[in-house]
Amino acid sequence: MLAYTHPACLGHDPGPGHPEAPARLEAVLQAVRGAFPALEWRQAPKAPRDALLRVHGRDLVARVLDLPTEGLRRLDEDTTMSPGSAEAALRAAGAGLAAVDAVMAGPVRQAFCAVRPPGHHATRDLAMGFCLFNAAAVAAAHAVHAHGLARVAVVDFDVHHGNGSQDIFWNEPRVMYLSSHQSPLYPDTGLANERGAGGDGHIANAPLPPGTGGEGFRAAWAGTLLPALDAFAPQLLVISAGFDGHRLDPLADLELEAEDYRWLSAELAALAARHAGGRVVSLLEGGYSLAALRACSVAHLQGLGA
Ligand SMILES: [Zn+2]
Repeated sequence: MLAYTHPACLGHDPGPGHPEAPARLEAVLQAVRGAFPALEWRQAPKAPRDALLRVHGRDLVARVLDLPTEGLRRLDEDTTMSPGSAEAALRAAGAGLAAVDAVMAGPVRQAFCAVRPPGHHATRDLAMGFCLFNAAAVAAAHAVHAHGLARVAVVDFDVHHGNGSQDIFWNEPRVMYLSSHQSPLYPDTGLANERGAGGDGHIANAPLPPGTGGEGFRAAWAGTLLPALDAFAPQLLVISAGFDGHRLDPLADLELEAEDYRWLSAELAALAARHAGGRVVSLLEGGYSLAALRACSVAHLQGLGA
């Protein structure tokens, strides 16, 4: 497995007391480096603008990259840019692009992107929910447009629904988007009847009530989402790996343990082995308990087989 990160991802600072703090990424880096000393680390490049424009409108790209940022610049009530944010967002998206290129070229078949800010709430035209660019969507679109894949899956187990990824791929049947998430919870999308344009099922949502623990989480994946993914037979898995469903997370109310992320990650690796030549690109999304981030990021990579 390869791992991508960049120091610039620590330079995005949404302000004092904001939960999406640089310490999150420091915790993940420290835990993963400690648990997997042989992992090969690579520097994330900056995403080129044309790769961003596959999934985002020109206005959003310009608002993030071209407006001057001095001090803090607010994009919505919980999404703020600091002077280092534009490069962080470019490196986060660039990590996913480089990871897709690497697993498509082989021989390495898996890559983990330890990056921030997260991305899955960013829609085609809006930065929101701590997210600037949707790095997982940028990666999936790159796999379709630059590598010619016909079936790419974005698998999202962050506790929040990835409304941005769903928005971007609503009319794109070459990309399947699957999500389990707490409902009700921000951003209040992702009902089970949201199935993609025409209701064709290339969007698959499993809302989980507050208080759901590992049993309910595994039942949703084993009973609904994994069979749908198996039937889609993806040629590449892109994972939106958020760990805020852990019982310690301060922003949500699921009761997952690190072991649940290990289980799902192993299921996804097995599915990728069946259909995708083992190709998996995982990108860090949310997770706001540092202890949970440490335990879950290691469990995730262990489950993938790192
Ligand atoms: Zn989240």
